[in-house]
Amino acid sequence: MLPADNHVHSEWSWDTTAASMRASCRRAVEVGLPSVAFTEHVDFQRWGAADGRPGVSLGPSYRPGVAPLDVEGYLASVEECRTRFPELRVVTGLEAGEPHLFAGSLGELLAAGPFERVLGSLHAVVEGGALVGVDRLLRVDPPTLMRRYLEELHTLVESSAAFEVLAHADFPRRSWPAYLPFDEAAFEEEYRAVFRCLATSARVLEVNTRSPLWSARLLSWWRDEGGRAVSFGSDAHQPARVGARFVSATDVASSAGFRPGRDPFDFWRA
Ligand SMILES: [Zn+2]
Ligand SMILES: [Zn+2]
Repeated sequence: MLPADNHVHSEWSWDTTAASMRASCRRAVEVGLPSVAFTEHVDFQRWGAADGRPGVSLGPSYRPGVAPLDVEGYLASVEECRTRFPELRVVTGLEAGEPHLFAGSLGELLAAGPFERVLGSLHAVVEGGALVGVDRLLRVDPPTLMRRYLEELHTLVESSAAFEVLAHADFPRRSWPAYLPFDEAAFEEEYRAVFRCLATSARVLEVNTRSPLWSARLLSWWRDEGGRAVSFGSDAHQPARVGARFVSATDVASSAGFRPGRDPFDFWRA
């Protein structure tokens, strides 16, 4: 049996154009998923009173187009889908972007609703005193950017307890230039530092199937560093991608020593 898809976006995420919560649930049932979590984007356009980092501004290339999450509308939509698809477990959630820099604003939002599956993610790094989306920075020196990304991700894990699952831990790899082969081993030390920190707080690592699929070796670094649970996430922004590549992803996780948990809704465990 396939595991839960713990990372799906619907029409309630600001960056979707072809998404539908209802159609995503229908798709999840079709492909045989036990559960789907709608982890809508939560990003902020300005620093709140308890947010920020001294000397850092929000640049124009940081999450352009961001809009606030309509919590009430979102939760009503989840309720409707629960009624319509009783055979599927529909889980609430959110994907908190840069949670270590928006502790105040994120805390307020988390208090506004029951969010069961909270993902933490990093889409931007500081460049010239401003937060800038990493996809805009890959042209010059991708390996250096990757190291900076993993360093910032380490800081994120260390300084934010607001999330349970670390999403797409090597996000820059998605926009990696074709001329340069991606070598996981070149960043082993940096990956391991992030994993060690995440494992220390007994949290969960996501296997993201929208990013290039990890090797079993990379996932075994997570185990070595004390990681005990993995979550699978398609990061679908359209219904057709719900549960995408889960067969391959679960093969990789099995090879690294992870197995289904106590019930079909649980994370996979080491
Ligand atoms: Zn993301
Ligand atoms: Zn996402």
